[in-house]
Amino acid sequence: MDKMFKVAVIEGDGIGPEILAATMLVLEKAINKYSLNVEFIHVEAGDSAVKKYGEAIPESSWSVIKSCDAILKGPVGESAGDVVVKIRRGLDLYANIRPAKTFPGVKALKPGTDLVIVRENTEDVYIRAEHMIADGVSIALRLVTKKASERIARKAFELASKRRRKVTVVHKANVLTLTDGLFKRVAYEVGREFPNIEIDEMYIDAAVMDLVRKPERFDVIVTTNLYGDILSDLAAYVTGSIGLAASANMGDEKAMFEPIHGAAFDIAGKGVANPTAMMLSAAWMLKWLGERGGGKRYIEAGEAVEKSIESVLSEGKILTPDLGGSANTMSFAEAVAMRI
Ligand code: ATP
Repeated sequence: MDKMFKVAVIEGDGIGPEILAATMLVLEKAINKYSLNVEFIHVEAGDSAVKKYGEAIPESSWSVIKSCDAILKGPVGESAGDVVVKIRRGLDLYANIRPAKTFPGVKALKPGTDLVIVRENTEDVYIRAEHMIADGVSIALRLVTKKASERIARKAFELASKRRRKVTVVHKANVLTLTDGLFKRVAYEVGREFPNIEIDEMYIDAAVMDLVRKPERFDVIVTTNLYGDILSDLAAYVTGSIGLAASANMGDEKAMFEPIHGAAFDIAGKGVANPTAMMLSAAWMLKWLGERGGGKRYIEAGEAVEKSIESVLSEGKILTPDLGGSANTMSFAEAVAMRI
């Protein structure tokens, strides 16, 4: 009997349910075609859970999430911080990997962009240690450790060794000499274990400029939590639409896959959201399950989903409004599913 994988599904808020329904249509097709053994368990989390239970991830959901191999997560609204931070820290998903790649046929600010941002996911200001120390005076603490910097740097170098063999460390160590200074120093130390990979560094302010001006200078960017968050939204914009950008949050045992965009309340309920980022996240999950013991069929299924999406996008006939088309979310999904 094949290994069975359990996947917790969080549909999210705003456009979440719409893009997830579209993604499930495509996933079902791939799962049937490649005879995969995946059980999806829907869990309540996000704004709707806050309304119902008073917390973004109620205990009943958390116990399911902890028991699953992977999590497929739609975008969450107001309570996004509570949901993602709890899952990322609770399951120690320390590497947030955010590729930014253009697609043939999709208009992009910088055609040919192909880079990956590797963002540290558990520290920095996201430890949420903010304090009001006096009336009108607030402070926030920022955590950077050698251990977390080391493991994220290693992920970045491992990834670069399968790509164009270059890692850029993005920081602001001229101002944050101790925290960013440590992050940068550790990245260079880890870099010595990878003599075939070029390493360079940039200040965050220079990096945002180059990301727009000449994104081709980047292969893999490794950076701390907050800079990574900001850089990856910009990188998604450079590639055409935020609706195209998938991401993974990886630990050593488990992983969560999600689009980088938010709940997009402005277009929710209209059936026009672009489900590509969600679908690419799901395809990535299948490939990851393949590496986690599922084997070749899972990897092929993930690749088939990716190829089908690329084929629909490059044909340019069935595109959602964010890409200049007039197709709705479900007709895009049907076109993708048909090609698998
Ligand atoms: P967050 O702070 O959670 O990132 P936000 O409201 O700042 O949320 P998004 O929800 O990502 O950002 O939306 C930013 C813009 O991009 C909105 O105008 C939204 O309509 C658009 N957008 C986001 N995702 C999609 C999508 N999948 N398809 C089409 N448009 C999208």
